[in-house]
Amino acid sequence: MVQFDEFGPEKILEVHDHKTGMHGFVVIDNTTLGPAKGGIRMTPSVTIDEVAKLARTMTWKNSVAGLPFGGGKAGIIADDRKLTKEQKLGIIGSFAKAIKAVCPKYYVAGPDMNTGEEEMKAFVEGNGNFRSATGKPANLCEYPGERCGIPHEFGSTGFGVFHSIMVACKFAKIKPGGASVAIEGFGNVGTFAMKHLTEKGFKVVGVSDSGGCIYNPEGLDYSRLMEVKQREGTVAKYQPGEVLPSGKVFELPVDILVPAAIPNSINEGNIDNVKARLIAEAANIPMTPEIEQKLHEKGVLVIPDFVANAGGVISSYAEYRGKNPQDMFYLVEKKIVRNTRKILRHARKAGVKPRDAAMEMAIARVRKAMAKKAAKPAAAAPAAETKPENQEPV
Ligand code: NAD
Repeated sequence: MVQFDEFGPEKILEVHDHKTGMHGFVVIDNTTLGPAKGGIRMTPSVTIDEVAKLARTMTWKNSVAGLPFGGGKAGIIADDRKLTKEQKLGIIGSFAKAIKAVCPKYYVAGPDMNTGEEEMKAFVEGNGNFRSATGKPANLCEYPGERCGIPHEFGSTGFGVFHSIMVACKFAKIKPGGASVAIEGFGNVGTFAMKHLTEKGFKVVGVSDSGGCIYNPEGLDYSRLMEVKQREGTVAKYQPGEVLPSGKVFELPVDILVPAAIPNSINEGNIDNVKARLIAEAANIPMTPEIEQKLHEKGVLVIPDFVANAGGVISSYAEYRGKNPQDMFYLVEKKIVRNTRKILRHARKAGVKPRDAAMEMAIARVRKAMAKKAAKPAAAAPAAETKPENQEPV
């Protein structure tokens, strides 16, 4: 059952197309700060309830990132392993057409589970508006060579995770030069996080993927690890190093831990063996708020997921505003540095864990905008394609 409260959801649309077999929904949680932004998840089991919860998370994530976006999310019930690429893109196009009335004025799509740049291309084609989705291919441009797509493959999330760590190191009194790091997951986020950390002088000593964990206290070589992953399919084939089970990555004697793969990876079963002083949550929900609280009480600084991994949504905003990749990276760095610093300062002052400080700030920003909007004589529609009034200076 979807839970409604003062923040939303404002709109829920459920659509069906018998011809393509498309059945999907979009939950527009809150548009006070701008059009609702969130990805399209395609799984056989996706429900409105699940999408509504994710849409609310996006409301807070976009708010805390200081973006002029509200929160939303979409779901399409389909098993992409049983579809041809053509069928899959047909379903996306039909979904985009069916929700045309709200898109992009109230909802701007993006990639999520089982949707990527090609699906975003199909979405804007089906919708008929180039700005109705972000995460489009880099060679898809609104005008020749201008206002082109910025796909997630550019690595904005890992880049943002790196910058959040740089800021947090000052709070945790860790010197970047030589500080040891362990990373769970060597996909899009994990690889780019390692690349930037290594370039800045951090020593990445442990990396895991679904095939195992490689540990070498002398440090792992980024380029060679990339080659091994590409050639062998797993980081566990890298040498020299000690090969361990995947889960051991959380127990390594390191200064910094970066969970960048699955949910609930740090839990009651391994929390007592965590040795890191700083954890940057690159993955979504790598631990519950209760586990975060326990780590906080042990003196471990945890940068919450919706702060540390906001690089992706900041990149989406850059694309939405027609910026080029260079400007996008500039914006990600600037916003992640400013937001992480602001939240960690507030948390330290209030004596609470960073997630509590971030949530307080996210809710306050939405509440303030809602009050301002309510005080206006006529309710204004969210500002799509114009310079949004809620945009913070960047
Ligand atoms: P990805 O699919 O590119 O990579 C996932 C990696 O995790 C792979 O290397 C895989 O082998 C590894 N993995 C899977 N199971 C594992 C296990 N049990 N132990 C260790 N490693 C395991 O995914 P991604 O895009 O890098 O996303 C990683 C996390 O970051 C997810 O939680 C995702 O929701 C979150 N996230 C991603 C983005 C983005 O822009 N890609 C943005 C925000 C949040």
